[in-house]
Amino acid sequence: QAMDSSELIKREEKYGAKNYHPLPIVISKAERVWVEDPEGNKYMDMLSAYSAVNQGHRHPKIIQALKDQADKVTLTSRAFFNDQLGAFYEKLSKMTGKEMILPMNTGAEAVETAIKAARRWAYDVKKVPADQAEIIVCDGNFHGRTITVTSFSSTEEYRRGFGPFTPGFKIVPYGDLDALKQAITPNTAAFLVEPIQGEAGIVIPREGFLREAKKLCEENNVLFLVDEIQTGFGRTGKLFACDWENVVPDMYIMGKALGGGVFPISAVAANKQILGVFEPGSHGSTFGGNPLGCAVAVAALDVLEEENLVNRSLELGQYFIDKLRTIDNPEIREIRGRGLFIGIELTTKARPYCEQLKQLGLLCKETHETTIRFAPPLVIDKEELDWAFERIQKVLGDS
Ligand code: PLP
Repeated sequence: QAMDSSELIKREEKYGAKNYHPLPIVISKAERVWVEDPEGNKYMDMLSAYSAVNQGHRHPKIIQALKDQADKVTLTSRAFFNDQLGAFYEKLSKMTGKEMILPMNTGAEAVETAIKAARRWAYDVKKVPADQAEIIVCDGNFHGRTITVTSFSSTEEYRRGFGPFTPGFKIVPYGDLDALKQAITPNTAAFLVEPIQGEAGIVIPREGFLREAKKLCEENNVLFLVDEIQTGFGRTGKLFACDWENVVPDMYIMGKALGGGVFPISAVAANKQILGVFEPGSHGSTFGGNPLGCAVAVAALDVLEEENLVNRSLELGQYFIDKLRTIDNPEIREIRGRGLFIGIELTTKARPYCEQLKQLGLLCKETHETTIRFAPPLVIDKEELDWAFERIQKVLGDS
């Protein structure tokens, strides 16, 4: 006899490290915008695995690509060429407008790759003295969980007990151009920034910041690296969140929805002058660029285009945020967002609200204690958003 939800949770909690605090729901099936537990209860997914499932759960075209490729070849390593990697490069190069792509698996690995590229570029091209390269990042950033990435986090709970940390990073307040200007030295290799800070609570910088920061970097021969891992691929109503200010970064760092929520694949994209600094042996990954991931990613990007998900996110996001703003509750401090990337910041803890929404069949997750994040799959429709709104209004509006 199959285990029920409470038995499944008990088993997971018995053997697993406690590095997460999940809502008590077990997902055993999913399709498009909906997930199901073993008892057959259905829930709307308004988290999308932190924006990795932009194309919706188990999109048929992406699953077909996975199955077809699984019947041919799944892993070659980069010791050999494979027949899928080139198509993936070509597609992503066209979408980003960049000459070169470097594939990895997870977001944090893509960020590490960006840091290595920026440091190499600083020494080889900019001629910064050996081991002196500096990278500037923002207060409140989230770029992943490796030691180096944790080294420049400003969040104590991400850092406690993990030192010694990697040197070479400076933190400036998010959205503060003057602070950025002051932090730049002749040894600055790069400025690494999220165009909208996701984990920090959907924090949108003031209009003009990205554009001005890019210009400042250009003037000082500093690379402008943008982490679009959570914000990319239509999440904010543009292909990339940078597009909101018509900013073209020196490097796009991508992950999550690049694999359509089906397979982990990440990448960085930049021109030859930057990614050309890697020679054979300088960087790599056993699974990076594997044919299964590449086939899935090409299908995931095709779906984004064929189903016009970027515009859908823009239009439905506006529709949804306008509705949310009609909710009258003194505990709502601010409702903000771009596309289907929306946060409701409260004056109190957000988790009890997420728990109540779960009772009503809507899954979402608080971020940074006081913000409820809504980031449904971009394939969601208006009727489903209305369904979600009814529940949100019930929970937030009647208090
Ligand atoms: N960068 C940003 C902006 C993210 O939101 C995340 C994940 O939430 C990461 C990097 C890390 O990605 P991963 O968890 O795939 O390593």
